[in-house]
Amino acid sequence: MAGSVLLVEDEENLASLVAAYLEREGYGVVSVGSGAEALQVLEREPVRLVVLDLALPDIDGLEVCRQIRTRSSVPVVMLTARDDPPDRLAGLAAGADDYIGKPFSPLELVARMKAVLRRAEPDVDEQLLVLGDVVLRRGAREVTVADEPVELRPKEFDLLAYLTQNRGIVISRELLLERVWGFDYSGGTRTVDVHVAQLRRKLGRPGLIRTIRGAGYKAVQP
Ligand code: CA
Repeated sequence: MAGSVLLVEDEENLASLVAAYLEREGYGVVSVGSGAEALQVLEREPVRLVVLDLALPDIDGLEVCRQIRTRSSVPVVMLTARDDPPDRLAGLAAGADDYIGKPFSPLELVARMKAVLRRAEPDVDEQLLVLGDVVLRRGAREVTVADEPVELRPKEFDLLAYLTQNRGIVISRELLLERVWGFDYSGGTRTVDVHVAQLRRKLGRPGLIRTIRGAGYKAVQP
């Protein structure tokens, strides 16, 4: 699974202890000491999970968590010395996935992280397919365009998923029929054209699926 653990903790001794432990457990770690740096890292590299201290020198950890949630569904485990129930609820309300009170053992942190990752990354089928601002959730069979849900018929969804998985590759109508409709489908390749036309119309993004004359169709990352 690609992506590092982003560790956001301004207490250097604790940060280096936790980072060393996570690295020994096989996680790649990017360590930063402020909320602003954390948000910058999230903009520029893949992050699998965020370990976020509540008390940071610049932006409050709860606010950092809220800002992360406006742009990402990356799992967040919050660290805090304030271990009473109201803060716990505030952390969860800000979008944290779990919460661990200081002092904690690195062993306990790793156990919590693994539980959160298991929920966040259940299996490959649940992973997102992304093409521009079109996002497919394969497990839930949901599609959004610019965060707005779009209703697709089952074969439209399957066709879009197949083209998106193979983006940049020209795929013939015959192969699309075989892969999306199955070997025993008796209709002709015109079916593919009709479904592509429907997808372009429903998504409102006609440029995402290109017609390659004499060859087939290709999904393109804009
Ligand atoms: Ca701190």
